[in-house]
Amino acid sequence: MGWRVAEHAVVVVGGGPTGLMLAGELALAGVDVAIVERRANQDLPGSRAGGLLSRTIEVLDQRGIADRFLSEGQKAQVGQFAGAPLEISDFPTRHNYALGLWQNHIERILAGWAGELSVPVHRGREVTGFAQDETGVDVELSDGRSLRAGYLVGCDGGRSLIRKAAGIEFVGWDPTTSSLIAEAELAEEPEWGIHRDAFGVHSFGRVEYEIRDGEVVFMDRGPVRVMVTEERVGPTTEPTLRDLSEALIAVYGTDYGIHSPTWISRFTDMTRQAAAYRDRRVLLAGDAAHVHAPDGGQGLQTGVQDAVNLGWKLAQVVDRISPERLLDTYHAERHPVAARVLRSTMAAVALRRADERTQAVRDTMSELLGMDEPRKRFAAMLSGLDIRYDLGEGHPLLGRRIPDLDLVTPGGAVRVFTLLHDARPVLLSLGTPLGFDSSPWAHRVSAIDADYAGDWELPVLGRVAAPAAVLIRPDGYVAWVGEGTDTGLREALTTWFGSPSSGETRASGAASR
Ligand SMILES: Cc1cc2nc3c(=O)[nH]c(=O)nc-3n(C[C@H](O)[C@H](O)[C@H](O)COP(=O)(O)OP(=O)(O)OC[C@H]3O[C@@H](n4cnc5c(N)ncnc54)[C@H](O)[C@@H]3O)c2cc1C
Repeated sequence: MGWRVAEHAVVVVGGGPTGLMLAGELALAGVDVAIVERRANQDLPGSRAGGLLSRTIEVLDQRGIADRFLSEGQKAQVGQFAGAPLEISDFPTRHNYALGLWQNHIERILAGWAGELSVPVHRGREVTGFAQDETGVDVELSDGRSLRAGYLVGCDGGRSLIRKAAGIEFVGWDPTTSSLIAEAELAEEPEWGIHRDAFGVHSFGRVEYEIRDGEVVFMDRGPVRVMVTEERVGPTTEPTLRDLSEALIAVYGTDYGIHSPTWISRFTDMTRQAAAYRDRRVLLAGDAAHVHAPDGGQGLQTGVQDAVNLGWKLAQVVDRISPERLLDTYHAERHPVAARVLRSTMAAVALRRADERTQAVRDTMSELLGMDEPRKRFAAMLSGLDIRYDLGEGHPLLGRRIPDLDLVTPGGAVRVFTLLHDARPVLLSLGTPLGFDSSPWAHRVSAIDADYAGDWELPVLGRVAAPAAVLIRPDGYVAWVGEGTDTGLREALTTWFGSPSSGETRASGAASR
């Protein structure tokens, strides 16, 4: 190991969407966290992910930063499966839409937030290896220096060095198809939009577009975004302009005079998931833990939501509020979510095929998804609104996202998500006082008395019985539901937020920043 330059409670490897979100979450909790990022700056060659889906926007709203994204992106009903539209405009959420916003903008905004929270980023440096012991992890950097971390989180993308070095198996399937994606100029005008043939799906669009009356309208000029499926699965080497030109000619008989590419990349339907999200002091999140085809646009969403599940738990373990086994709930909760994403993307890729039998399956799926209940279920799955962590039997809210209700408190009107801005747990009593002394947790859990007169409505499930009280985790999932008594509340508080005497006392996350 080289000369040790710094020591941090947590080192996050990779400052993509997952790493930035995780570092922000840890910083909000007052944890000493740093990012190591290979790229010299946040610029991203190419556009990659096309936007944010409903639950991701909600999660950003829970931190008070959704507006930053909403003000730059474009709202649209873009959800679809097997060609069937999956509208969510009737869903009970403030964000009943998807947001079109390219990944380079998403990363810039997230990096701005992490910067405001004073997260140090060691840029232009790669992690080349690590060694963990009983008390921490020595992290080796490409410049010959090293860092010491209490915990190391690999948010270093699909080819994750951290995952490989930890010896964590990446279980799944090799690619069956590959596509080239590029931003370039065309000498001739193509037919804009999505095309399907025996090879698969291809498309031409402009990077700049507007949503008008729910339709994508491309700008008249500016770089073109091309996607073309290759005849055979391409090699893992970097694709060239020549590869792109040949792939276009194979499909269209012309390459439309493609030139001046600023980005050429290849993606496949390789589908793999880390067998374990944690090995002692090393954790994985985002693409490092799961890769799949981009169909449905779920990769970035899953990564950002991994980060929001892990952040507060890791913060509590670092602060010795909670035992290390709290980190096991990260794998237990998030592995099944990504496994489901893997399954739906594999199905979507199978349905991309153009043969008549596949068309018959697509038509059948479309017919099914044209019915209201299947449409709601699939749309809730793809937008992340139906996630339920298995916290046992009970009220339908248990383990599900808390809706962003308009509450009335002695201090005035407030939205539930506003109560979560500082990423602290909330014990919300609605109407009747709980008669439970939560003061031993007062330094950790915000106890709020509020009134709420409206309905409690969840995506897919519809109206549910109004609870008398709820314990909300910092990630916005409900850890306990009170139905008139405090049964189980002490256990829930202890399970999720430690026993009252545990941990280092912090006045608040903000105060210790
Ligand atoms: C063509 C395409 C379209 C997509 N469309 C969508 C979409 O519409 N919606 C969606 O949700 N997702 C989409 N995705 C997926 C999305 O881009 C990824 O899921 C997302 O970027 C994952 O974020 P991440 O932070 O986990 O990993 P990454 O974005 O891969 O970030 C990893 C970071 O780690 C850094 N790094 C790697 N190794 C090291 C190292 N050893 N040391 C230091 N730094 C390192 C990298 O430089 C990088 O910044 C698409 C992907 C592709 C390719």
